[in-house]
Amino acid sequence: MIYDAIISGAGPAGCKCAEMLALNGFEVALIEKKSNWRKPCGGAVSSRVMEKYFPQIRKLNPIIKTGAFMFSADYHKLEYNWEGYGENSMVVDRLEFDNLLKEVAINAGAHFFDDNLSYDFIIKNKKKIGIKTRSPSGIEEYLGKIIIIADGMSSKLAVMSGLRERWKINDIALAKCSIIEGKSNLDIKKLHIYFRPYKGYGWIFPIDERRINIGCGTFEEDNLNYNLNTIYDEFLNNTHIKNYFSGCSIKTLWTGSFPMSAKGVVEKSLYEDNIMMIGDAAGFVSPISGEGIHPSIVSGQIAAETAVHALEKEDISKNTLRSYKTHHNIKKIIKNFKLKRSLVEFFYEQGGKNLNTMFNLAEKDEKFKTQVINMFFFNATPSQEFFSKIRNSA
Ligand SMILES: Cc1cc2nc3c(=O)[nH]c(=O)nc-3n(C[C@H](O)[C@H](O)[C@H](O)COP(=O)(O)OP(=O)(O)OC[C@H]3O[C@@H](n4cnc5c(N)ncnc54)[C@H](O)[C@@H]3O)c2cc1C
Repeated sequence: MIYDAIISGAGPAGCKCAEMLALNGFEVALIEKKSNWRKPCGGAVSSRVMEKYFPQIRKLNPIIKTGAFMFSADYHKLEYNWEGYGENSMVVDRLEFDNLLKEVAINAGAHFFDDNLSYDFIIKNKKKIGIKTRSPSGIEEYLGKIIIIADGMSSKLAVMSGLRERWKINDIALAKCSIIEGKSNLDIKKLHIYFRPYKGYGWIFPIDERRINIGCGTFEEDNLNYNLNTIYDEFLNNTHIKNYFSGCSIKTLWTGSFPMSAKGVVEKSLYEDNIMMIGDAAGFVSPISGEGIHPSIVSGQIAAETAVHALEKEDISKNTLRSYKTHHNIKKIIKNFKLKRSLVEFFYEQGGKNLNTMFNLAEKDEKFKTQVINMFFFNATPSQEFFSKIRNSA
């Protein structure tokens, strides 16, 4: 059988893409290396994902988060309640979440192949006409008109396609997290973020009444300057963090670590003749925050719309697939990520000194605090005056 589309990777990006193509009547093969793998992730996601892309998430009964507590490395606190202002957030368990998204894609008509690790392309007359996988029953081959690479950071196909190079250590973030269970005195309707003196941050994201996702990470050159296990242990044993759990018994249910891209979308790597790359594989993760679930789903949806158009007009060349990259929502994501990238060096100068000053100023000045919030939560570009104020006060 020749599928209309083959999607390697059934994470949020691949599942959205598969669902949309199947709903449009196309034959889709959705290929996944292991469904019972829980993607290491904080699981914090805008509720827009539930409202706009996957209403089925309501089944998971997520607790809606109404605000965030953010701390600089020297523990200046910035509290922001977005209830009634903008989008809410929620925290999901990635095993439950990803399995729900797979179910949505399958119910829409996608053909799902679990336990299939894609490792190479099938090539005929110099054209990539399918992919090869390793499965428990041996090597499998899937033929398809369009191939969509959605298999995340560790994607072999991304590199083999020639679309992008292997990640370099300075291009990525490394993070470790756990799901813990037990009582705490945390406000479970808030996200808790702790910036650190290195490039990175720690988080405490309550999932539900019982479970909490906790973790931390580094990015760029600090991946080499700091040991992930050491900073993780330090974060969990930090007195500020321990206070949330004092006198309570805590059980670790699961721990994992994984890389993510830190430099934004790899723009030149998004498409080729009959190939598109979506989600983490193409760098759809916001620099500094590491938020990637929502942008990955957006990239999956737009790649599916592009593929539908290309299949309908029977032209799967890169000329037609170019409209994936030029879509206004992809352009908006790229622009937002560039803004975040441009702030990194400034914030983390001298062990996060400017971040400390920024939070300190925001504590005292409501107008300045609004600018900080607009920058963090609404992607507003800060004024020159904003930067000068921080530099002059540091
Ligand atoms: C520690 C950590 C914390 C994070 N926290 C957050 C957060 O709180 N909020 C947020 O929005 N983002 C967060 N992110 C980023 C987020 O996890 C990703 O951006 C998001 O999962 C990307 O979705 P995706 O579908 O592109 O890739 P993935 O979710 O990585 O999915 C890829 C899928 O492909 C499969 N796969 C991999 N290789 C193969 C292969 N060879 N063959 C077949 N299948 C394969 C995998 O099993 C997986 O199912 C975090 C990332 C990390 C590492």
